[in-house]
Amino acid sequence: MSTTTTATTTPERERDDPRRVRLDTRVKDPRETETLSADVCVVGAGIAGMSAALTAAELGRRVVLVDAMPTLGGQCANSLIGLFCGVYGNGPEYRQLTYGIFPRMFEALAETDDISFNYRHTITVNYDEIAVGRWFEKEVDRTGVLPLTGASILSVDNDGGHIRSVQFSTRYGVVGVRADAFIDATGDAALVWEAGLPCRVPERTIWGSQQVRLENLVPEAAPEPADLVSRVRERGDEFGLIRRDGLAFFFPGRDTAVMNMTHIESPLDPVDASTAQIRGKEQADRVVAFLKDQFPDAFGEAKVRLYGLPGRRQTRWIESQHQLTLDEVRNGTKFDDTIAQTAWPIELHGHPEGYTWDVFDSDHVHSVPLRSITPVGSENLLVAGRCVDGDAAALSSVRVMGPCAAMGEAAAHAFDLTLGESVSTLDFGDLRARIRRNISDGEG
Ligand SMILES: Cc1cc2nc3c(=O)[nH]c(=O)nc-3n(C[C@H](O)[C@H](O)[C@H](O)COP(=O)(O)OP(=O)(O)OC[C@H]3O[C@@H](n4cnc5c(N)ncnc54)[C@H](O)[C@@H]3O)c2cc1C
Repeated sequence: MSTTTTATTTPERERDDPRRVRLDTRVKDPRETETLSADVCVVGAGIAGMSAALTAAELGRRVVLVDAMPTLGGQCANSLIGLFCGVYGNGPEYRQLTYGIFPRMFEALAETDDISFNYRHTITVNYDEIAVGRWFEKEVDRTGVLPLTGASILSVDNDGGHIRSVQFSTRYGVVGVRADAFIDATGDAALVWEAGLPCRVPERTIWGSQQVRLENLVPEAAPEPADLVSRVRERGDEFGLIRRDGLAFFFPGRDTAVMNMTHIESPLDPVDASTAQIRGKEQADRVVAFLKDQFPDAFGEAKVRLYGLPGRRQTRWIESQHQLTLDEVRNGTKFDDTIAQTAWPIELHGHPEGYTWDVFDSDHVHSVPLRSITPVGSENLLVAGRCVDGDAAALSSVRVMGPCAAMGEAAAHAFDLTLGESVSTLDFGDLRARIRRNISDGEG
C-alpha cells in the first residue's frame, strides 16, 4: 500500500499536451497509489463511452476513460458484434441519423477494406473488430484522452448527488479519479448503482449471446438466412441448441463470419457471470458442430478463430427522469430534449428460443430524450449507451450502437456546457445547436 504518487509518465505527457489529465497530489484515500484529476471521467469504453470521451477531448476537456477490461472498445470490439446498427434510417431514403465519430471511423476503416455496407430495410455496417479496436486506441492517443484500463469501480464519493471522486481497483493498486463530471457508459449502470442511485433490472431474463468468429469458410456455399433458420428448427434439438434461429454475418471477400446463434444469461452476480461465460462457449461449440454437420459445403472446415466476450444486451439500467416507453418508440415521439435518433426495430431477446423483431415503416424515426440518460438524484452524472432508461421493449430498440454513440456525444456536450455546475442548469437550446445533425428531422 502506498500513499505517494508513483506514475512518472503522465507529467511528461502533460507537458506535451495541456489537455492531459493532471496527477492530483492530494491523495486522500490511504489505499490509493495515485489520484487523477480531470474535467470529465468516462467509465466504460464501449461505443458509448468511446464516443463520449473522444467528443469531450475534442472539445478541449481533460478526460480520463476507465474500463474494467484491459483493453478499449467494450462489446463493439471485444464481443464480436460485427455490425453497426441503427446509424441509418430505413430505406429507400437511408438517411444517416448519427454522425459524431462515425464519419471519420468509417473513412479510416474504408482505407483498409475493414468495412462494408449492407442495404436492406436499413443500412447495417459490417466492420472488422480488430481494426475498430485499433482505431479506438489511435483516437485516444490523438485526442489526449488518458486511458485507465483493467480498472473496476471500487467506491464512489457521492456528495448529495454530486459525484466528487471514484476509486478504481487495478492489478497495480487503487487509483482515484476526481472530476467535475462523470459519464456512466458501463452498460450495467455500474457507476450509478455504486453511487447508491436507483436502478432497474429486467422483470424476466433478457438473453445475451456468445458470439464466435469462424474461419476457413466457403462463403459462396453459405445457406440463405431462411434456410439456416429452418434447419435449426428441424435439427437443432439433436445438437442441443437452445436458440431456434440464428444469424451469420459473413465479411465480404473473406472466409470468415461472425455467428450470432446462441442465447446465454447475463447475470449480475460475479460467480454466476463467470460460470455463464463457460456455458456460453459450450453452447457456441454445439452451434459449430451443427453447422459443420448440416452445411458441410460452407462450414465443413470451420474453425473458431475467436470467442467474443459474453454479449450482454440488457442487464441493469438507470431510473431516470423519463423512462422511454414502447408507445413513444412506436409513435416516433419527438421530445423537446431529444438527443439521439434511430429507426432500429424492436429487437427483444425475451425468450430462449428467439426474439421479437418488429420493423418500422420507411419514414419512421424514434428518439431518446436527455431526461432518459439523467439518473434520478444526480447533478453531475449522465449515462450513455445500453443502460439508458426505457421499458424493456423500448430499450431493445435504442441499445444498438448508432444511438449509443449519439448518447455519448450528447452527454459530452452537455457537460462541456455546464462543467462545474449541475447539469440541470443546461440550456437545451445550446445543446440542440451542438448536436443538430444527430437530431435533425431531415428537412431542409
Ligand atoms: C450478442 C449481441 C449482438 C448485438 N448485435 C448488435 C449489432 O449487430 N449491431 C449493433 O449496433 N448492436 C448490437 N448489439 C447491441 C450493442 O452491441 C450494445 O448494446 C452496445 O455495444 C452497448 O454499448 P455500450 O457502450 O453501451 O456498452 P458496452 O459495450 O457493454 O461497454 C461497457 C463497458 O463498460 C465496462 N464496465 C462495465 N462495468 C464496469 C465497472 N464496474 N468498472 C469499469 N468498467 C466497467 C465494460 O468492461 C465495457 O467495456 C448486440 C448486443 C449483443 C449482446
